[in-house]
Amino acid sequence: MYQYPFYTLSPQPSTVAPQKKLLKDQYEVLQIELGSGTYGKVKLALNHKINKKFAIKIISKSYMKQIFATQHILNELNYLQGCKHKNIVEYIEHFEDRDNIYIVLEYCEQGTLDELIKIKQKLTEEKAFHYFYQIAQAILYLHEKDIIHRDIKADNILLQNNNVKVCDFNWSIFLPNGGKAKPCVCGTTEYMPPEVITKQKHDKGVDIWSLGILLYYMLHGELLFRSKHKEELYEKICNKQQIKFNEKLSNECILLFQQMLAHQKRINIQQVLNSDWVIKMLKCKQNQNQLELTPIKCRSTAQESTRVSIVSDSSRFSNSKFTAKSLYTESPYKSKNQNQEIQHPMKVRSSALDQNNPAFRVEKRYFY
Ligand code: AMP
Repeated sequence: MYQYPFYTLSPQPSTVAPQKKLLKDQYEVLQIELGSGTYGKVKLALNHKINKKFAIKIISKSYMKQIFATQHILNELNYLQGCKHKNIVEYIEHFEDRDNIYIVLEYCEQGTLDELIKIKQKLTEEKAFHYFYQIAQAILYLHEKDIIHRDIKADNILLQNNNVKVCDFNWSIFLPNGGKAKPCVCGTTEYMPPEVITKQKHDKGVDIWSLGILLYYMLHGELLFRSKHKEELYEKICNKQQIKFNEKLSNECILLFQQMLAHQKRINIQQVLNSDWVIKMLKCKQNQNQLELTPIKCRSTAQESTRVSIVSDSSRFSNSKFTAKSLYTESPYKSKNQNQEIQHPMKVRSSALDQNNPAFRVEKRYFY
């Protein structure tokens, strides 16, 4: 099995010498429980020095004896530490003592997407897209790093300021060079694709299937495949049955479902982000939003006009329809102050995406 190469923890954390830093020196762990996972509780903690709240995952070392537990806990530490993305929960630091491992995470005060869906029952396409797009951005980031999450589900999507933070990397795996994972039943049954249930080798397509199941859940308020009996659930997932959709769903959305929940030839995350539904939903947003451009450094020879292209953050998109049109603005360096840096950001109308989303970069080109 590949080990993601950025960080290693002793395979037996119980034998690791205690770290000098102590949790209690920096954090006051409050008796407020934020939730509980397979390996322990998550509690709210306060860092008095900076007067900020954090979430602390407390993992009991007694779990280490359980099958997969050590690997899962190492995965959680490895992937959390190696991933820096605005839609992935931020790892702060970790501690351990004789009994527990403590992982300090940024605090996501709005709970999970699962809790939100249970309250709202179902979301509109616009609302669902808001979350879907951010989760897809997190998956794109992971897949570009050859990491497969393998447990994308509403319970693992935390919310902070209405933005998404993917968490729980217990089942994640690093598979470089288009590699496939050995057959194993991993993740959460309702979200598992047929190839996992039938114990075949699997790849990044696992996350696409789960994302499709999650989108269905957001739009319908109930999971696509449900049963109290595991065998029946397996059967429902593996049989290619006709999917019943909410009658109000757009054709583009239904088409995307069919492509994400395909048993063979499932689309990849780039294709998800280039799908007609995503493009349509992005266009719906475009008129309301503005992009703020950072000051442009002066180039002494730059004259006349500066072309500002707003293009996708990922070069893979730049030739596709995901690329937005260019905008032309008056050059700020036209006159005398050529060596002076612009102090105020220019505002241009975004033809692409909302300013909350850094999926777009701004290219500045100079004409001489
Ligand atoms: P996990 O062990 O990662 O599955 O987390 C278990 C539960 O704890 C989640 O479903 C959330 O309800 C809660 N939780 C985990 N991490 C955080 C966090 N960073 N901020 C707020 N709540 C969290």
